[in-house]
Amino acid sequence: MTDAAHLQSLNDLPSYLSGQGFGEVHVKYDPATELLAIITIHNDKFQPAIGGCRCIEYSSFAAAMQDAFQLAQGMSHKTAASNLSWGGAKAVLVKPKLIRDRQAYFKAFAQFVHELGGRYITSIDSGTELSDLDTIAKYTPYVIGMASHLGADTDPSLATALGVCHGIEAAVNFKLGKTSLAGLTIAVQGVGHVGYQLCKQLYSRGVKLVVTDADTTAVARCVKEFTAQAVAPEDIYSTDCDVFSPCALGGILNIHSIAKLKASIIAGAANNQLAEESVAELLTQADILYAPDYVINAGGVILATALYEQKSLTETMSQLQMISDNLLTIFARAQKQNVSSHTIAAQMVKERLGR
Ligand code: NAD
Repeated sequence: MTDAAHLQSLNDLPSYLSGQGFGEVHVKYDPATELLAIITIHNDKFQPAIGGCRCIEYSSFAAAMQDAFQLAQGMSHKTAASNLSWGGAKAVLVKPKLIRDRQAYFKAFAQFVHELGGRYITSIDSGTELSDLDTIAKYTPYVIGMASHLGADTDPSLATALGVCHGIEAAVNFKLGKTSLAGLTIAVQGVGHVGYQLCKQLYSRGVKLVVTDADTTAVARCVKEFTAQAVAPEDIYSTDCDVFSPCALGGILNIHSIAKLKASIIAGAANNQLAEESVAELLTQADILYAPDYVINAGGVILATALYEQKSLTETMSQLQMISDNLLTIFARAQKQNVSSHTIAAQMVKERLGR
């Protein structure tokens, strides 16, 4: 996803907000709990806006603001690319050295969310837990993904993995002309929450798996359960495979890594896979089909919005199929216009957001 431009100084805030298409920025400080929270709503064309609540330490308030802007913009691109009538937003809590009373802290945050009257719906992100969402839900209905919402079948990483799997099927169909993944080799980088679930889906479709992870226990589980071949993290790029599926870190696609790739398709869950935008063109020149990350990894947000709208699980799961349709549209437009899939995805977001 395109990074939000950086805010150089607070004096530039008004022009930054209008330039980047922001609708609202709210800040709250609660001295009793030391809650220092920022809620940014990227665009108000679609309401309500959804985005997780991140609670981590920051080097400065400006860094927290920047994170909030970037994450909200990312969410807005993700919902727009998936044709969801939801805006994108994010809450960033500048974590104090010690949260003395976690219940009181998240109660104060819930009140902040509630004051926005439902224009922002919060959820989980780095540093928050399902139990925090349960605390928030006691004080506001504007929250999604509490333990009470999520059964075993509605784990967000499962929805993300299923969406990625549909996306891989679409890419294989488009690039290789195959309607089945059986017999293909797929290299999965990172077998954490999403990567593991993705391997499970792919294995059940007859895929030969090659996996890597910084965590050897996670790798061993895939070797045991899915007869996956394990490789060292640095060897995953040069693995002989049909599809490379990044499911660990962002920024991994750069001039050096793509030079090693043997796969003709890149389709995975990791956010912000392109180290820089120009890499998208390099992939096109190398005839590698790239599934734009914020399109293929939207399964979690599709699930969250569907739960909030009280759609049935069956309806929600079939909604994940639209990831495949979206990607096929993007691939076809990119091919016709001879530009990268990343360029087309960005164009589609612009068309949808009207800017
Ligand atoms: P996770 O932390 O559970 O898994 C990531 C895995 O990557 C871990 O097992 C970690 O050990 C491994 N890893 C880290 N560095 C590595 C390296 N250099 N080489 C190989 N493996 C490495 O995270 P997750 O929830 O599975 O998310 C994976 C990616 O997908 C992230 O980029 C995340 O932002 C993105 N994403 C996740 C969701 C979701 O529903 N969880 C939704 C959208 C996007």
